[in-house]
Amino acid sequence: MLTQFVEYESNVLFRTLRDLGDKSSQHYVILNKTFSVIYCNELYTNLTNYNFEDITHTTFRQLLQHIKCNMHMEEVEQHLRKGKMTKAQVIHNRKSGTSFYAELACIPLQNKDNETEFVLVCIQDITYTQLYDFVDRLEKDMFTAIQNEVPFIEKLQLVCNSIDYSFYPCSFTSIILKHNGALHMVQSSAFYPEKPVHYSLEQWAEIDYYTQLIEREHMTVGKDLNQMPIHLLHKQLALKNELTNYAFVPIRQADGEALGVMTIYYSEQQDDTKIYSLFIEKILNLITLAHSYEQKQKQIYQLAYTDMRTGMMNRYRFIERLTELDVVDGVIQIIEPSEFSRIVELYGRDTGEELLKQLYERILHSGMNNQALIGRFSSELIVLYMEREIIETVEGNAEDFLNGLVVQSFIIDGKEFYITLKCGSAVLQHKKAVQDAIRYAENALSEAKRVSGTCVKFYSRENDTQLEKEFIILKHLIEALKNKEMTAYFQPKVALGKARITSMEALARWISPVLGFVSPAEFIPIAERAGLIRQIDLQIIEQVLQWFQQRQYEGKRIVPIAINISPEHFYHPHFVEELEQLIKKYYADPNYLIIEITENLGLVDVERAQKIIQDLFLRGLKTSVDDFGIGHSSLSYLQKLMFAELKIDRSFTSRIHEVGTFVIVQSIIQIAYNLEIDVVAEGIETQEQADILYQLGCKSGQGYLFYKPMSLEEIEEKNIL
Ligand code: C2E
Ligand code: MG
Ligand code: MG
Repeated sequence: MLTQFVEYESNVLFRTLRDLGDKSSQHYVILNKTFSVIYCNELYTNLTNYNFEDITHTTFRQLLQHIKCNMHMEEVEQHLRKGKMTKAQVIHNRKSGTSFYAELACIPLQNKDNETEFVLVCIQDITYTQLYDFVDRLEKDMFTAIQNEVPFIEKLQLVCNSIDYSFYPCSFTSIILKHNGALHMVQSSAFYPEKPVHYSLEQWAEIDYYTQLIEREHMTVGKDLNQMPIHLLHKQLALKNELTNYAFVPIRQADGEALGVMTIYYSEQQDDTKIYSLFIEKILNLITLAHSYEQKQKQIYQLAYTDMRTGMMNRYRFIERLTELDVVDGVIQIIEPSEFSRIVELYGRDTGEELLKQLYERILHSGMNNQALIGRFSSELIVLYMEREIIETVEGNAEDFLNGLVVQSFIIDGKEFYITLKCGSAVLQHKKAVQDAIRYAENALSEAKRVSGTCVKFYSRENDTQLEKEFIILKHLIEALKNKEMTAYFQPKVALGKARITSMEALARWISPVLGFVSPAEFIPIAERAGLIRQIDLQIIEQVLQWFQQRQYEGKRIVPIAINISPEHFYHPHFVEELEQLIKKYYADPNYLIIEITENLGLVDVERAQKIIQDLFLRGLKTSVDDFGIGHSSLSYLQKLMFAELKIDRSFTSRIHEVGTFVIVQSIIQIAYNLEIDVVAEGIETQEQADILYQLGCKSGQGYLFYKPMSLEEIEEKNIL
């Protein structure tokens, strides 16, 4: 090779340059003043596979593909002409057709006329560092994108663009990803700026091929692009740009699940595929990272906005959705299954959740779901927003609508539940009034809860003051229970016709040091809602038992005493045991206790009520069904539940002279008689009422006509028994 340079040997400049090149122990070439190659060292021929003969007198520019760092080769040459040392990054070809990233350090040598005579170009293969830098940069960009919550699609495009600009010189990259069961594609904007960068592949005839690519285990590389059944647009684009090589790289999650495929079309084959594979792996990791982050984001979004148990949107999302609506003109409804807390208490949270879920599904299938927003308001409440148009069809029959939702029983874990619904409703006509409307609907709901059975209440101003009043009562009630302010009063039940006292009913009386006398009709429902009723009942029971003990000790007559037990307490898991323990504590005779429970209780779960009544019966306690006739339930369950006594509600007694009432009461008494259940008429105020009832076969009565509820002192003083 050297012999061919003899003509230059004499040239001192040339020799100087060559010595310099040799000393650098780098790959180098020497260019003449037209920047054609006139010499290269062996290291260079090893790196590029060119023989000197191949490249002699070709311009150096022809050996390069692409220049980086914003400088054009012309610019580099200009610098060199001026005698300036210049550095540049380029993509250098190899004889084999492959290329590598190279960093050039160009040292020009000028003659005495200040013309550049020779240029020493030292060449360093920087492919590895270049790729390393690239992945480093991409990694940084990806983290920034994640931090800035850039949409997932844009993150994928970032990968495609980066590959096209910096990873594979001259390439076209696209990523095809499975998403919600469909295939979507994102492509780099480098070659196709006018086309959309993201679209669904549903319409593509080649979809099967892509689906198959995704499932492949390993990367596929090749150069017969023409033969590949890829999408025509891509094929045309690649061929037009002479990107005839391809790499199909399956994208898989850490657990091996196939996510998609990355396709890269590029101009020449890389011979160091190992390096590229390594970096591609890193790129894939970034894609899967972005993907799992996206999934996490979705989960977080779901967690933040959806009630996972029932699938409803949660309260925050509901309010947000409302404020997103263009026009707001409708009604807010807050709905609660009346028996929700009791069901949760008895069967656990899961049953309660399932109940709400089923209720939600019924609302969804009620046909109004597309015009209504439905959300979970709190653990037991569903909130609904309905537009005026729907309400107009529903209004007036709001109660019918709710009844329709619960007319069939709910089956949860094989158990059958009949429930009723309470609903508070308020008008909403402006987005800014959402919070107010919700508060109003909540107030109306509290009103609705005062009524038994399914009930809808619309908000009115009075609700506000009522609510305030309730709140004050509750506050003092908590104190009252601590201070044992509750006392038992007794109202006798008498044998009609004989006016003899057969038993008495214990009724809670509360004279608050602050509020004065508060009627049980007021504080009992509040205590029930606040979960305080059990304490009241227990305090009353203890007073009754103490009284028994005292009377027995004094050798006085005792009569059976009825105690009122609210359903919440009745269904409490330890109700029967606790009662039994108390009875034992006072050495009382259980035969002298009657448990009064309201008729609505059978609705929750007849089977369970039956079991508790049976348990009470086995312990010698009788049960009485209170306020019979006003509730939801029918005579039919009287047969199932072993009540010893039935108390006809006061509302029947007061209207006993009306024919309709008379007939109902008559049949109640008959059925009770057949079932061997004693009948007591409540609230007898006149002799006429007493007479009629007696004639109908009612053996016992209770009411102001005979006795009002009395304190123990009064009973003792007047020696009533
Ligand atoms: P209830 O068990 O049906 O009791 C009968 C109610 O009617 C009592 O009201 C009684 O004072 C009233 N009453 C009796 N005879 C007449 C009458 O001739 N005319 C009129 N107008 N009223 C009469 P009270 O004491 O206000 O109790 C109301 C409700 O509060 C009770 O209805 C009962 O459900 C509940 N309650 C009372 N004490 C307790 C208790 O210790 N525990 C529980 N869980 N509930 C209780
Ligand atoms: Mg009662
Ligand atoms: Mg009653």
